[in-house]
Amino acid sequence: MANENEFEYDFESRIVSSSFDKKEDTEIEPSLRPRTLDEYIGQDKVKENLKVYIDAAKQRGDVLDHVLLYGPPGLGKTTLSAVIANEMGVNIRVTSGPAIEKSGDLVALLTNLGENDILFIDEIHRLPKTVEEILYPAMEDRVVTLIIGKGPSARSIPLSLSRFTLIGATTRAGQISTPLRDRFGVVLKLELYGVEDLTTIVKRSAGILGIPVDEYGAREIAARSRGTPRIANRLLKRVRDFAQVCGKGVIDREIADYALTKLEIDRLGLDAVDRRMLEVIIRFYGGGPVGLETLAATVGEEAVTIEDVYEPYLMQIGFLSRTPRGRCVTRLAYDHLGIPCPGQAPAGEQMEFFSEKSEE
Ligand code: ADP
Repeated sequence: MANENEFEYDFESRIVSSSFDKKEDTEIEPSLRPRTLDEYIGQDKVKENLKVYIDAAKQRGDVLDHVLLYGPPGLGKTTLSAVIANEMGVNIRVTSGPAIEKSGDLVALLTNLGENDILFIDEIHRLPKTVEEILYPAMEDRVVTLIIGKGPSARSIPLSLSRFTLIGATTRAGQISTPLRDRFGVVLKLELYGVEDLTTIVKRSAGILGIPVDEYGAREIAARSRGTPRIANRLLKRVRDFAQVCGKGVIDREIADYALTKLEIDRLGLDAVDRRMLEVIIRFYGGGPVGLETLAATVGEEAVTIEDVYEPYLMQIGFLSRTPRGRCVTRLAYDHLGIPCPGQAPAGEQMEFFSEKSEE
């Protein structure tokens, strides 16, 4: 029986974690954030539509409709909101759901907005309910109601607001209440990035940071970044350290592979935590289904973090599936981990079986 401690992972120090803490980025990365839609790499469908909305609003001399951006952390929601402000030529105020504790905080923010300004609320699904309700008339009719005093003598004073655009960002669109979601005229979903786009992002970031990297080195980092630009930028900086100390100073495929292997990030971008999580499901729960809460308790992590940070990529590469009864590991994951999949033919044989069938 394995030692229990073997399954206590240090999620905090996880190199590929694209957690909500953006401190690491803001110290040295502000210049890595693209400023215009042209510089913003990938997400072509989102960009195409946004460009139309931005151009149309500008032609009409109007504000942009309220925008909801959703997708896993680190995909560029905050960056995109700053790009929108820049393209519209307006100011942006940045805050987040958990930072706004009282209704008064939001009223103060809204009443201080200038004409056409953008208010960006990150993690908008975490706004307290009472605060959220202030947003409804603010978004729809540009008014907030100030309540002065308490009890029967309380007076309500409606205040009109400047024309503004609210940009909300969330990792979980499903947790946004219907009245709030319905008030966003534009709803855009950011997808995980492909290797081509991430390679371009790595090369761009390397150029800005003055890190020499060749095409193959950039591609190696991109392929192991879980479809996430924030992770790609982080890995680039770590690989740079290895290139500087153990390599020739230039990031090529060899040093990138060496560094990422040292960091226990495998060919597909899975780290020790991902692999252990899959192993837990296989060894303790026969490959699943296992409920999210049970899984969270077993690996010692919050259910929301598993859902937001770990699962999207594991599902994207087909290693994990969600069923009504819980999470299941797929045979692709068994193969990747080198664990025999019970009751199934090895991968090669099954492929043959499928191709024979389809030819019939
Ligand atoms: P989110 O708000 O979705 O968590 P961020 O906007 O903070 O993500 O993006 C994380 C980092 O990834 C940023 O610092 C930025 O440098 C980089 N990034 C994100 N999207 C892109 C993109 N489309 N092109 C280039 N870099 C990007």
